[in-house]
Amino acid sequence: MIYCEKCLGKDCCDLFAKVKIKMRKFDFIIIGGGPAGAVFAKNIDEKYSSCIIYLNTQKPCGGLLSEDAQKYFADRNIALPQEVVADSQISCVDTIDIHQNLLRKYRRYYLNVDRLKFDEWLRGFVPEKTEKICGTATKITKTDDGVAVTVLSNGEEITVFGKYLIGADGGDSTVRKNIFPDKKIRRYVSIQQLFELNTAVPSYACIFDEKTTECCAWIIKKGDKMLFGGAFEAKNCRESFDNLKERVEKYGIHFGEPIMTEACMLARPKSTGQIFLGEDNVYLAGEAAGFVSPSSFEGISRAMYSAETLAKAFNTKNPLKYYKRHTAYLRFVIFLKLLKCPFMYSPFLRKAVMKSGICAVKK
Ligand SMILES: Cc1cc2nc3c(=O)[nH]c(=O)nc-3n(C[C@H](O)[C@H](O)[C@H](O)COP(=O)(O)OP(=O)(O)OC[C@H]3O[C@@H](n4cnc5c(N)ncnc54)[C@H](O)[C@@H]3O)c2cc1C
Repeated sequence: MIYCEKCLGKDCCDLFAKVKIKMRKFDFIIIGGGPAGAVFAKNIDEKYSSCIIYLNTQKPCGGLLSEDAQKYFADRNIALPQEVVADSQISCVDTIDIHQNLLRKYRRYYLNVDRLKFDEWLRGFVPEKTEKICGTATKITKTDDGVAVTVLSNGEEITVFGKYLIGADGGDSTVRKNIFPDKKIRRYVSIQQLFELNTAVPSYACIFDEKTTECCAWIIKKGDKMLFGGAFEAKNCRESFDNLKERVEKYGIHFGEPIMTEACMLARPKSTGQIFLGEDNVYLAGEAAGFVSPSSFEGISRAMYSAETLAKAFNTKNPLKYYKRHTAYLRFVIFLKLLKCPFMYSPFLRKAVMKSGICAVKK
């Protein structure tokens, strides 16, 4: 019996559990408990031991499940529980070009979810035997036979060891920045605010405004609340966000005081060459790898597909080869999205498309 010094003999205290983790070496350490991390942990063969490091916080997100994400669940016979689904569902997007004063509606089918609850629900699929540490991975070191990851959990630092490291830690991936510093990817700052719904707003609006951002912004109805968010270049991002909010108010949308403000980095691959899968014993999945749409910023489906493929890759002799080959389709789709980008983000082409009414809902 090993006794914990702090509670003198109770072998069930937190510290004891952490000492036990410390002494173990896992096959896989997964950083990130979003869609990519949870799906990887669910799908990795049970012969392997894994440890997932995650944060139980709300990931800034619109929480819209695209048709691809819905298909992912449908193909696996997984039904989303009611408590994960948000009110109201989306069948079209109001597209607003503020600077050019244009407005169009396009058909799009999204499932509107509560992102925090969605992530918690996905993590519920992580097998019981997977070690779960709620905390922030603060330091990653390559060792002779694997990796060491230091985690800040409940004010304490613990270090875990693994043979393989999976970076499923999103757009601002610590794993990517630390282990592959030369594998840069274009990033923006995304800012979102939540408001009480005190005005008539579309269920989902996509807003373009070349004066404040070269990306886009969005309004999404979430029950009796409304989410307003956008992606901005890092320089003066908060100022751009506030300016854009003011410009949107001219369309009769009144925001009032925000209930919540959140921000995070958003990866937006400039080319498929910015998608990086990892090498040796460190792999990336989801947005950390660059699997996110550069046109719509849709990343949940891509995170789940890439992570599942990566987990399956470890049943083969050459995981990287398998992972590369079986994510070729995802890269191809991102390539197509890159071709679509000028029609959405170049003011001139966007004007031509919106004015022409191509693919728009007839009034
Ligand atoms: C504002 C915004 C709105 C978006 N809206 C949509 C949308 O409506 N639909 C859609 O499909 N996509 C959307 N996306 C993109 C989508 O959120 C991501 O592409 C998707 O969540 C990627 O999943 P992931 O698991 O790869 O990473 P994430 O979902 O980002 O998960 C990574 C997790 O790792 C955790 N983490 C990071 N670093 C550490 C660390 N050092 N230690 C421990 N944990 C760590 C993070 O807290 C996070 O929980 C949006 C993105 C943003 C920024």
